[in-house]
Amino acid sequence: MLATATLRVNETFYSLQGEGSAIGVPAFFIRLDGCPLRCAWCDTPYALEGTAGTEVTASALAAQSAHANAVIITGGEPLVQDVAPLVEALHGKHITIETSGTIFADLPGVSLFSISPKVGSSGYRPKPLTLRKFCASAPGRMQLKFVLADDRDYEEALACVRDLRDALPPDTPIVLQPESASAGSGAGYVTTLRRLSEKALGDDRWSGLSLRVLPQLHYLLWGGEPGR
Ligand code: SF4
Repeated sequence: MLATATLRVNETFYSLQGEGSAIGVPAFFIRLDGCPLRCAWCDTPYALEGTAGTEVTASALAAQSAHANAVIITGGEPLVQDVAPLVEALHGKHITIETSGTIFADLPGVSLFSISPKVGSSGYRPKPLTLRKFCASAPGRMQLKFVLADDRDYEEALACVRDLRDALPPDTPIVLQPESASAGSGAGYVTTLRRLSEKALGDDRWSGLSLRVLPQLHYLLWGGEPGR
């Protein structure tokens, strides 16, 4: 019954997870259509309006992903839609939901909530109450991933994590990654990543946290091309 529920899908593709603690893992991507935010550097502007997608049933999406061990439900903002039927249809797979952390969903079947709180240069601020709900409902199944364009973003990311510290489950991965458009490509990207890495390594305010500094692998490999 639930498998006949439909979701508005912008695109599907098979690629490598490009971000976060599962970077490099092959996965089937389901990009849902629509997002209420308009981040200044959004890398999927074609998936924001919610008018570019097609309606696909949860069971059809599960069939398309049959060959993959891992499925990444992304957007847009996937939690704008009711993804529960899709999570149910994908039972048995490693399911990641990529979200901005502005909409809460309690979904025990999700393996990893990859939450990207928006800071400074995006034009938005983190939503601490929503983040705290994820901390309470998904311990061991969440990571916080910050996209950083400048020093102000870095400080706001750190402040966000420190403010959450009493609620944050132990060993929650905290991922810092350069904002790709401002980081540029090739040697410029590496220089930006090195600067961020050295800044974080020299900053003992991250002490006791499970910090990672990572690139966006799909951006390095394919330059942010849709369907990759
Ligand atoms: S939340 Fe994500 S999809 Fe939505 S505008 Fe921001 S970067 Fe783009």
